[in-house]
Amino acid sequence: MISSVLPTYSRAPLSFVSGAGSWLTEADGRRFLDLGAGIAVNALGHAHPKLVEALTAQAGALWHTSNLYQIPQQQALADKLVDATFADTVFFTNSGTESCELAVKMARKYFYDKGQPERVEIITFDGSFHGRSSAGIAAAGSEKMTKGFGPLLPGFVHLPFGDHDALTAAINDNTCAIMVEPVQGEGGIRPLPDVCLKGLRDLCDEHGILMILDEVQCGVGRTGKLFAHEWAGITPDIMMVAKGIGGGFPLGAVLATENAASGMTAGTHGSTYGGNPLGCAVGCAVMDIVTAPEFLAEVNRKASLLRQKLEGLIATHPDVFESVRGTGLMLGLKCKVAPGDFVAAGYAQEVITVPAADNVVRLLPPLTITDDEIAEAVARLDRTAASL
Ligand SMILES: *Cc1c(COP(=O)(O)O)cnc(C)c1O
Repeated sequence: MISSVLPTYSRAPLSFVSGAGSWLTEADGRRFLDLGAGIAVNALGHAHPKLVEALTAQAGALWHTSNLYQIPQQQALADKLVDATFADTVFFTNSGTESCELAVKMARKYFYDKGQPERVEIITFDGSFHGRSSAGIAAAGSEKMTKGFGPLLPGFVHLPFGDHDALTAAINDNTCAIMVEPVQGEGGIRPLPDVCLKGLRDLCDEHGILMILDEVQCGVGRTGKLFAHEWAGITPDIMMVAKGIGGGFPLGAVLATENAASGMTAGTHGSTYGGNPLGCAVGCAVMDIVTAPEFLAEVNRKASLLRQKLEGLIATHPDVFESVRGTGLMLGLKCKVAPGDFVAAGYAQEVITVPAADNVVRLLPPLTITDDEIAEAVARLDRTAASL
C-alpha cells in the first residue's frame, strides 16, 4: 500500500525535533552535528536568534496580503540585494526551481522583445541541477530526472562539463543564454574554474547572449563571497537564488540587470506567495548578517581551517577518500566508497553529511559553525571513515 506521504524520497530513519546552531536533536535525544544544513539552506544554523525574532515579529503582525499591494518587507529585501550585488532588480519566488522558471522566461522574453523570437535556446551543462519543475528538469536534462516526464520543455542544449570546443560550436543564431552553476552542488561539488567563468562571460558578450547563473546552492556566503561568481570578478545578467537566502524559510529570488529584465513588464509574471512578508522579513535578517563586516572573512577563515583538517583526514583514510574539493564551506569529499554508505555510517557517529553525484559526500555546514565544532566534525568524520 502506498505510504500516506507520496514515496518520492528515500529517507534516513531519523526524525529531528529541534535544532540550535550547528546541532540537531533527534526524537530519541541524540545530538547530531549538522554538516548538511538542510542542503545549504540553514546557512546561519538552526534557530538563529535574529531569524527567529524576525519571523515571529512578522508572524504577529501580518502573514500575507498579495502582490496586488505594496509589500514593504519585499521592497526592503530587494533594496538590500540590489545594494549588495550586480543586480538592478529582483523578483521573489519560494524555491530554486521557481527561480529557474523565471530565469528561462526572462531570457526568452528579452530576445522576443528585441525582435529575435527565434533566440530561445539555453545552453546548460552535464551534471547540473536546476530543480524539479518542468523547466528545471529540461534544463538539467539528465535521464534520471527527465525519464517518463516527456514531452520536455524544448530549447535546452546540453553540453559536456568543461568542454570549451563543444561550447563554441553550440552557440548559434538561436542561442539565448548560457545557464550554469558556478559550483555544481548536486553534481558533486564541481567548481567551474574562475578562468572558465570569465571565458563564459566573454563568450556571452561576444555573441550578445545572456549569462544566467544558478547560485541557489553556492550563493549567500556559502563559498566565502556573498555570491560565488564574485571570485571570478565577473557578473551575470540573471541570477537564480534560493536555499540560503531564507535561512530555512522558503524563499527564492531572481536577480537581474535592468537590461536583462527589460521584457518583464506588468502582467508578464507573478506568484501568489513569492515575496510574502514572512519570507522577506527573514530574508532581510539573513542579508543583514551575511553582509555585516567580517562575516565573510570569518567564513573564509573557517573554510581554510576545515579544508586543512579534511586534507589530513583523507591522508589518514586513503582507502575511503580520494580528494577534497570545493570552495569556502561548500566542500566535497570524493570517495572510494559509495557516498550513500558513508553518509549512513555517519549517522551512527552522529554527524550529518549529504551525498552527491560523482561519488562525492557534501559538507555544507552552517556558515556560523565554530572552530570547536569544526574539530568535532572532523573527529566524527574520522570515526565514520574508520567504521567502514
Ligand atoms: C536546490 C537547487 C535548485 C532547486 O531548488 P528548489 O528550492 O529545490 O526548487 C536549483 N538549483 C540548484 C543549484 C540547487 O542546488
